[in-house]
Amino acid sequence: MATFPPLRMDLPRHLVGMNVTSPNVTSPSAAHQSLSFSSLPLSVQTWAVQMLAFHAFGLLFEALDHFHVLPSAKVRSLRKSQYMHLLPNVLRNQVFVLLPFMWVMEVLGLAFVGSLSPLRFMLNLPLMALGHELVQYIGHRYLLHAPNVFLMKLFRHSVHHSTRANSAISACYMSPVDFFIEIGCPYLLPLAAVGGGGGGAFFHFLVAGAGAVGGLYEHSGYDFATAFRPAFENLGEKPMSDSEKKAAYDALALDDGRGPLTRFVTNWLADFLDNRAHLEHHMRGYVSFSDGFGSPSILDTLLRTRWNLSERRRADVEREWARQHSQHQ
Ligand SMILES: [Zn+2]
Ligand SMILES: [Zn+2]
Repeated sequence: MATFPPLRMDLPRHLVGMNVTSPNVTSPSAAHQSLSFSSLPLSVQTWAVQMLAFHAFGLLFEALDHFHVLPSAKVRSLRKSQYMHLLPNVLRNQVFVLLPFMWVMEVLGLAFVGSLSPLRFMLNLPLMALGHELVQYIGHRYLLHAPNVFLMKLFRHSVHHSTRANSAISACYMSPVDFFIEIGCPYLLPLAAVGGGGGGAFFHFLVAGAGAVGGLYEHSGYDFATAFRPAFENLGEKPMSDSEKKAAYDALALDDGRGPLTRFVTNWLADFLDNRAHLEHHMRGYVSFSDGFGSPSILDTLLRTRWNLSERRRADVEREWARQHSQHQ
């Protein structure tokens, strides 16, 4: 568990680490402070915490793969480790794209600045989740997946899809432009839109750390919800019609010895841990353009591109097309 430095909401950033009573004299303690972690720009501190979370959990998932831990939850198998192959590309994107982008946003006064009341803190979290979804959906669907040949060459989104989402750190394995569109913008544009998130550390560490862990999970090939949902709902199982699925749930309810609390907790875990959406996106590039884990998937639902709605939408379109066609014959 990371420990966070105290919130520093009120101190102007240029005064942090300086001896404010005698600015022309650099005392030994001031010199020591100027080299400390808390004297770094907040954007750089946040990036460092994000790197720590990303690579610690990335290594943890790598260990699960290496030692074949929880094989029943590994829904996307891995023939051999891709970790060392993926790592240089991931580090390049994190160091040369994400870090400068974050720092420039702070220098421009667009993020990592200002004050943050407790109410704004609580409001900013869902607002940023919504903003993240909006920016990612638009960029992912309309720039990365529906480009002309020139944009395809420029973005090279196929680099990311080549991983098949079966290795956690592949979350950041992509071309630099793709990384800017799919990782940088959905994080930093909503942050600027909610007023920058304040000059305190905790909010930024929480958002950046949670984002890193969520991305790793949805690319890990692990789906821990398999332990909590009916087996016939898992990826790779034979698709069922609506009536077949209803009959299967009815049969399950008859045989269900769980109490209401157990059922509630199990269903909640099955929903919360569900990452089928992004796994399906890596298989079928025309579904689920939002994040698969931790995203409300509102746009995928409204526009019927969610992985479990798109086939029905296609069937509806074909049925309606056939109906109109028969009318005009
Ligand atoms: Zn992906
Ligand atoms: Zn994609």
